[in-house]
Amino acid sequence: MRYWGLLAGKLGVSTAISYGLLALINSLWSPQIYLIKYGWKTSRFGFDLAYTLVVGVWFLITVGLLYLCVWDQRYRCRVCLRRLRMPITTGSWGRMLLVGRPRIEYICAYGHGTLKQEELQISGLENPEWTESGDPWQELCASLKDIDERS
Ligand SMILES: [Zn+2]
Repeated sequence: MRYWGLLAGKLGVSTAISYGLLALINSLWSPQIYLIKYGWKTSRFGFDLAYTLVVGVWFLITVGLLYLCVWDQRYRCRVCLRRLRMPITTGSWGRMLLVGRPRIEYICAYGHGTLKQEELQISGLENPEWTESGDPWQELCASLKDIDERS
């Protein structure tokens, strides 16, 4: 739930930034112009080259912010929300039957899980596979208890 809350928060902040930029653009130019030839008010977009260019740049910035939100979210731990670390390449095209297709694995530095992402997206964009591991401290403590009981 925290994972999706973080994404919603980032999307909310980027939406607020985009809305603020658009409000700033519209405060510099009035969004509507009066066309004397036709006798009505219409949007400045498409008639005023400078306004249309600035709104086009604003659109690219907005799409870039949304892309950054989703891209950042993909490489975060699903439990602690920290950035995933230590990418390693596994698999081999030459020995695919033995070790599998090439993929990149990221791990959470605190041992919460592993993200496995295919190196080559053959059949479209595939979602990376998140494998959650158990609590590493509990496993470590359990193994220490076993050692204590044996001795
Ligand atoms: Zn984690």
